[in-house]
Amino acid sequence: MAFEYAPAPESASIVDIRASYGLFINGEFVDSADGSPFKTVNPASEQVLAEIAEAGPTDVDRAVAAARAAYQKTWGPMPGAERAKYLYRIARIIQERSRELAVLESIDNGKPIRESRDVDLPLVAAHFFYYAGWADKLEYAGLGPQPRPLGVAAQVIPWNFPLLMLAWKIAPALACGNTVVLKPAETTPLSALAFAEICQQADLPPGVVNIVTGAGATGQALVEHQDVDKVAFTGSTDVGRAIARSVAGSRKKVTLELGGKAANVVFDDAALDQAVEGIVNGIFFNQGHVCCAGSRLLVQESGYDELLAKLKRRMSLLRVGDPLDKNTDIGAINSSAQLERIRTLSQIGESEGAARWTAPCPLPERGYWFAPTLFTGVSQAHRIAREEIFGPVLSVLTFRTPAEAVEKANNTPYGLSAGVWTEKGSRILWMADRLRAGVIWANTFNKFDPTSPFGGYKESGYGREGGRHGLEAYLA
Ligand code: NAP
Ligand code: MG
Repeated sequence: MAFEYAPAPESASIVDIRASYGLFINGEFVDSADGSPFKTVNPASEQVLAEIAEAGPTDVDRAVAAARAAYQKTWGPMPGAERAKYLYRIARIIQERSRELAVLESIDNGKPIRESRDVDLPLVAAHFFYYAGWADKLEYAGLGPQPRPLGVAAQVIPWNFPLLMLAWKIAPALACGNTVVLKPAETTPLSALAFAEICQQADLPPGVVNIVTGAGATGQALVEHQDVDKVAFTGSTDVGRAIARSVAGSRKKVTLELGGKAANVVFDDAALDQAVEGIVNGIFFNQGHVCCAGSRLLVQESGYDELLAKLKRRMSLLRVGDPLDKNTDIGAINSSAQLERIRTLSQIGESEGAARWTAPCPLPERGYWFAPTLFTGVSQAHRIAREEIFGPVLSVLTFRTPAEAVEKANNTPYGLSAGVWTEKGSRILWMADRLRAGVIWANTFNKFDPTSPFGGYKESGYGREGGRHGLEAYLA
């Protein structure tokens, strides 16, 4: 039985959301020249939060021109030690304003405040601190004696970790001496616009960071712009493929961070209570809107009954609801479109013959919600075992031997991450050698650190973000 908690909402009064926002070009908020404004909503209440300018081709052109000018005149020629000071300053302002930014992120995205406050924001600041440290040491990064910046970077990010994905993109780009034009996702532009204000607060030279809001068409205009030297994209494999096609044959250097369908492999000798926590964190963290989510649970048959009983008991205790409540484990689904996708794939799971179990939990009336769900009796051929659901839905499969576990784990077009749970260290290494995934967690899951490279194999994309490896994407 779940304990009853009194509501413990974080106050929203710390954020000051304007009625409308312009584009951030050349250090200023400006009106759009050729786009039509759109609205961003709070997915937990369906209330409109603000009207956002859409950048059309003329606006994208202005932003790229501002970034080019800053690259040539201020940021490109600036010594690394000077660039580092700006990055440290940005990192410290993020720390100072972290409560405000966490609340803003939860309001626009729907993620629980517990996560935006304790995971997203600390990692955002850590990324800027970490890459600030590299800015004057690039010649020691093992990428040649005189590594040079590429120029203007076009960066497009998704809605699941709006500010964190911005940090993953902007911090290394600036540390290496590039300037950027970044497009946040249509449903979550507010924290990127708050970051634009932070750039002003830090006295960052105009044009070094430009933020162009809009939807897919804005992103496309940006990555296809002729005067861009580098394209960095995080999002779906379909759009990643289209971008790879559109830049093929050009001089643009590209990195793609795409989808995933990670296997989380639990052996019967694993510490089961610990594994249950890791499974829950693996798939229900951030409502399952996580590219590296452990969405396929592979359980050794001999431990199956015990693990499933524990897992269902634990899932029954998850609290779904108000993202700003500090007791909330699972917040709102980011958009009605995403909710529809999760519902559709779950229905397909049932109609293909898998058994659906949903945690008994009350859902709020307004807003976009989906209760934590698992499917058993899933076969490798089922769509819920192959396609990314990007929601709080776990597909459970079984295996008997380590070789079978590897075979099944690798049987996917993706290869972003994987998890292994076992008491045996030698087995962890044996598995890690054979799993085709960019990140492998052992007896933990969904742990991130700016010093650690992140990226995919196969259709999960190419290039690495984070760590020393992350510099390579922004240097020639
Ligand atoms: P998406 O549709 O690919 O969108 C990602 C971004 O690209 C958004 O800003 C989107 O704009 C923009 N976009 C859409 N069409 C475009 C085009 N033709 N050209 C240029 N930009 C375009 O992905 P999503 O559904 O929002 O995000 C979820 C996906 O991202 C999942 O597949 C997930 O696995 C992946 N993801 C991967 C990582 C990773 O590091 N590998 C991390 C997070 C998420 P609008 O959405 O604003 O219209
Ligand atoms: Mg929103």
